Amino acid sequence: MKKIFREYYNRDFSLSEAFPMIERREFGFLTFDGKTMLRHIGFQIRDNLESFLKKETYSDAFYSCAYYENPEAEMDKKGWLGADLVFDIDADHIPTSCNKIHDEWSCGSCGFSGKGVLPERCPICGSQKIDANTWPCEVCLGSAKIETIKLLDMLIRDFGFSERDVHVFFSGHRGYHIHVENEAVKTLDAVARKEIVDYVSGLGFDFASRGLSGKNSKMAHALQIPKINDFSWRGRIAKGVYDFISNAKEEDFKSVGLKKNVAEALSRNRDMILKSLEGAGPSGAVKGVGFENWMKIVEFCLKNQSAKIDTVVTTDTHRLIRLANTLHGKTGLKKVEFPTSAIDAFDPFKSAVAFKIGAVSVFVSDAPEFRLGDETFGPYKNRKVELPTAAAVLLICKGRAEVVK
Ligand SMILES: [Zn+2]
Ligand SMILES: [Zn+2]
Repeated sequence: MKKIFREYYNRDFSLSEAFPMIERREFGFLTFDGKTMLRHIGFQIRDNLESFLKKETYSDAFYSCAYYENPEAEMDKKGWLGADLVFDIDADHIPTSCNKIHDEWSCGSCGFSGKGVLPERCPICGSQKIDANTWPCEVCLGSAKIETIKLLDMLIRDFGFSERDVHVFFSGHRGYHIHVENEAVKTLDAVARKEIVDYVSGLGFDFASRGLSGKNSKMAHALQIPKINDFSWRGRIAKGVYDFISNAKEEDFKSVGLKKNVAEALSRNRDMILKSLEGAGPSGAVKGVGFENWMKIVEFCLKNQSAKIDTVVTTDTHRLIRLANTLHGKTGLKKVEFPTSAIDAFDPFKSAVAFKIGAVSVFVSDAPEFRLGDETFGPYKNRKVELPTAAAVLLICKGRAEVVK
């Protein structure tokens, strides 16, 4: 792997054009055995960093979202000057229908293991040493993309960042990174960043201040019902309710906790409710559907409309994040940037492929069906197969295959 990674850095790698203030960043590099993280490294100019990556080959390369007076100093002597606002959206934190099939984890302390979404702590011994064996699958990355689209919409429309300030990347593994580079966010402390986290996650939502209050509910909720074109979370909730009411079947009403008669009243008045959410005339009030019932729908929609981010990453003002255009040690795929406006059509399994030539014979222990570019591979189980370099590298990096000599 080291040899093949080195070839990539020497043949195809270049730093992204817009990499601001390189001399103020701390860099970190992970060795191939995955055990040692080289930290507190600084570079004065781009060329030095580029030639370092070409000469010394590491499995992963990171840089600080923070800017420091002395990036090479120890943590408490660095002199923090500010930090970009970063978000990490990772399929590990999003429940999907398939993660029970392809994701496994085990506790590094007691050995207990399970399938599906990774727990923060081991349910048996409480240890945080969770070893993951996940898969960068299309469905999971599709869900991560949906969360990313919601977040981008909030950053650009609600917060008012320009598309120039907001950089969106495929992480190289199971998710997306968003970096906001703007003077307005640079000096925000962890508490302020937590407020932003809460906003995008819809946490601690104050319904009353958004005109959703049970007081005088007979008229009030009807008059103040949010409309789909309303600004910020009011509009977002209205859109959520609109989608829910448009498509809800009996079991959907039941799953948000509504009784049969309430569900029937909502179904009967579907068109009127939708018109009301569009802002066209009727009050939206439905006989037999009280404020509490509406709130059950609203809370469900709030969850749906929120962006599922890894909250720890955003509040950590010293975080090291993967360097763009470098390889991810767990996949051999690149972290790549793409324009925010191109997200719908973005295909990580095409754009992030680093190795485009050659083939390698490997023995695959276990791999699900997967796609790279236009080609589909697998599933494989205990068999020898010759694969294009990128596919072989992915399986080897994921610990699912070994090179056949
Ligand atoms: Zn355990
Ligand atoms: Zn999946």
